[in-house]
Amino acid sequence: MSEIPGHILALDEADPLAGLRDRFVLPEGLIYLDGNSLGALPKKSILRANETVLHEWGNSLIRSWNVHGWIEAPQRVGAKIAALIGAKPNEVIVADSVSVNLFKLILAAAPLAPDRHQLVTESGNFHTDLHIASGAVELVPGMRLRIEPRDAVEQAIGDDTNLLLLTHVHYKSGARFDMAAMTAKARAAGALTLWDLSHSVGALPLHLNRDGAELAVGCGYKYLNGGPGAPAFLYVAEHLQDRLMSPLRGWMGHAAPFDFTDDYVPAAGISRFLAGTPPVLSLAALEAGVESFAGVDLEALWAKSVSLFDLVVRTVEERCAGFGLECISPADPALRGSHISYRHPHAFEICQALIDAGVIGDFRAPDVVRFGLTPLYLSHADIWEGVDRMVAILESESWREPRFAVRGKVT
Ligand SMILES: *Cc1c(COP(=O)(O)O)cnc(C)c1O
Repeated sequence: MSEIPGHILALDEADPLAGLRDRFVLPEGLIYLDGNSLGALPKKSILRANETVLHEWGNSLIRSWNVHGWIEAPQRVGAKIAALIGAKPNEVIVADSVSVNLFKLILAAAPLAPDRHQLVTESGNFHTDLHIASGAVELVPGMRLRIEPRDAVEQAIGDDTNLLLLTHVHYKSGARFDMAAMTAKARAAGALTLWDLSHSVGALPLHLNRDGAELAVGCGYKYLNGGPGAPAFLYVAEHLQDRLMSPLRGWMGHAAPFDFTDDYVPAAGISRFLAGTPPVLSLAALEAGVESFAGVDLEALWAKSVSLFDLVVRTVEERCAGFGLECISPADPALRGSHISYRHPHAFEICQALIDAGVIGDFRAPDVVRFGLTPLYLSHADIWEGVDRMVAILESESWREPRFAVRGKVT
């Protein structure tokens, strides 16, 4: 193992965000380049989860719904997320998963334009988005899914577009759509846009209001550090909220859930997008995760992400040339998110060998190894060390060991 060069250490010394790492539990010696799949554990989450379980659940029991604000947690945590995405506090609510929220918003939006029959999206979009969309359109008479390659999506928007469904930052390549431009394009054609922010929120500054976004969903367990299976969030622009009806009309989205009436009356505003009882323990962890951004300037966070990205590019170019790694992420920061991906015919084995060497990234089928560059808790030294361990694997070809070809259920 080589010593970390002085100019790399100097980058960390000059990093105004370096102290944020102390907010997280990170195992000694591990280089964690997967915070875009499962964010690290915030120290605060341990205390918050304990407090919620032992004190609130254990002692206060059912009284906690009122006394400890459990019932308002979806709106309260939603408002905290709103601050990270350039939305108003009453435009975001925490509920369900990204998949379920996509379903709710696709079907809530469809009736606003009953004469338009296409849901336009991108081929190679994250598969759950495509699967959910395919099921949702079957429930709307005449509606169909139009899946276009990335560079043809824009031209596909037209008179028959009911909804444009896009993932802001692509889960594999990291390529980023221009939110303002695509939303405006769809709006000019008379269609709404639904953004999936799963690989954006908590990594780059987002400006949903400024960019005219109408609908969005996003993930709680990636850059927001909400913990495994954390609930997701959804955003509906204020002016649309009372015109949309959730297709999942649960009691928690009712105007008066505790009146126990037979008829459904939607709650005013964003709360109508709740369905069932909120997952209180998961919400507590997510709230602590979101609070790990407290006092953090998102522009500074993004600047650090750019700096980490540049360091990966430079060190891989310098030290891994000739080993067949091909960067598939856009170089221009304006065109990408906070992860970097490389194509390699043996990406799976290299990824496993890296994990064995204490560098956790992930493999994305069929041939991509992806590194999440979470600017809240990674240092430039981590990047240098991670690439250093990869150099050793590539030079020795240790990735050829048969044990690195064994595939688990989750990749
Ligand atoms: C991670 C991710 C999801 C996750 O969906 P869940 O329903 O929360 O499992 C959805 N869409 C995209 C684009 C993602 O990156």
